[in-house]
Amino acid sequence: MTTTHFDYLIVGGGMVADTAARGIREIDRDGSIGILSDDVDEPYTRPALSKKLWTDDEFTWDKVPLGTADDTGADIRLRTRATAIRPDAHEVDADGETFAYGKLLVATGGKPVPLPVEDRSNGERVLSFRTAEDYRRLRSLAQDVERIAVVGGGYIGSELAAALVQNGVDTVLVHTGAVLGDAVFPVALAERFEKLFRDAGVEIVAGSKVEGGEADAAGVRLSLENGDEVRADAVVSGLGIDVATDLAEGAGLKIDDGVVVDAQLRSSADDIWAAGDVASYPDRLLGRRRVEHVDNANAQGTAAGRNLAGAAESYTHTPYYYSAVFGIRYEAVGTLDAELETVEDWIDTERGVVYYLDDGRVVGVLLWNVEEARDAARAVLADADTLRRDDLVGRIR
Ligand SMILES: Cc1cc2nc3c(=O)[nH]c(=O)nc-3n(C[C@H](O)[C@H](O)[C@H](O)COP(=O)(O)OP(=O)(O)OC[C@H]3O[C@@H](n4cnc5c(N)ncnc54)[C@H](O)[C@@H]3O)c2cc1C
Repeated sequence: MTTTHFDYLIVGGGMVADTAARGIREIDRDGSIGILSDDVDEPYTRPALSKKLWTDDEFTWDKVPLGTADDTGADIRLRTRATAIRPDAHEVDADGETFAYGKLLVATGGKPVPLPVEDRSNGERVLSFRTAEDYRRLRSLAQDVERIAVVGGGYIGSELAAALVQNGVDTVLVHTGAVLGDAVFPVALAERFEKLFRDAGVEIVAGSKVEGGEADAAGVRLSLENGDEVRADAVVSGLGIDVATDLAEGAGLKIDDGVVVDAQLRSSADDIWAAGDVASYPDRLLGRRRVEHVDNANAQGTAAGRNLAGAAESYTHTPYYYSAVFGIRYEAVGTLDAELETVEDWIDTERGVVYYLDDGRVVGVLLWNVEEARDAARAVLADADTLRRDDLVGRIR
């Protein structure tokens, strides 16, 4: 078996891999960087897969790849799945090859939760949505079939429903909430949000969980928990991810809803870091958490890359999250949970701020069409100990 040595080895070829390679290069211009990825594409910008590629004619495919290899000199091995890490030997096995490393970054992200549908269409009509290849397949289905069901009312499901209907597809969105978005938005805002979809022509099947169904070359039948059925030519699901900790767990790294890392993103094993969707890290303002969003992937990737190369810096960035549908853009910092107490502060009918309070303390801020206010939202979280409910309205504009 051949062994290839890299000074820096990154397992996972997603968004963290890109920024981590760049972070390494900020400190070390010469060390060798290897990236092992089971994807078929080099690192690319994932958010575009459910947004701009569908809705912005000027955002063409050439803007999707991140240019990691060209910019950093990283040796990217595609279609290469890492199957074991041996921390003591500083080695990783992947598809019959062994890679030796000086420093290792685990950036394996997560895998989409599968839809419980019996698929006899060979995956042609049943898709989850995470990769560029998933995008290409959905795009071609959108051209070839009339009606597509989207399952899941989170941000990926709602973005996909918006993308499909705006591209002329007869779209049905199946979600478990009473109203789309009601797990995170106050109910009146969720109702406005759902109306955007209905007005655009999306058929909404609310309060419904898909518990089974089948797909074949002729189409898809989804069985809902209440006994109803939804039929479509194809189905795409956005049911969240299972965090990809199996590799790290097999190597004996400490796992607790993600690979547990310290403030410098170091795992429990020597010379192994973790970052992005897979990492459980101590957020400076919000406490230990795992974040499945791109701002975190980018900032943590950079920080981890710098630390692999010896910077020894703490990760102090508190990430924001965003989504965009039908001309609305919302951003959020902290915890958004509609079960929490909320304070709404509307600047006008289209723009507003929602504060989420837990036991009287602000734990999350939603910015609805409010630009350039992320730092102000972070400042609210930083000052949460001293802010009272009455101090909130008018605070962010
Ligand atoms: C369609 C879509 C839209 C999104 N839109 C937004 C948005 O609008 N706003 C936002 O904040 N966030 C968004 N996100 C989330 C954001 O893209 C993720 O948080 C980010 O990609 C996480 O980066 P990562 O590197 O941790 O994981 P990923 O980008 O998922 O990369 C993980 C990589 O590891 C590879 N891998 C896993 N296991 C192995 C293994 N054993 N061997 C080799 N390779 C392996 C995977 O193939 C993948 O390439 C979106 C995600 C998706 C899927």
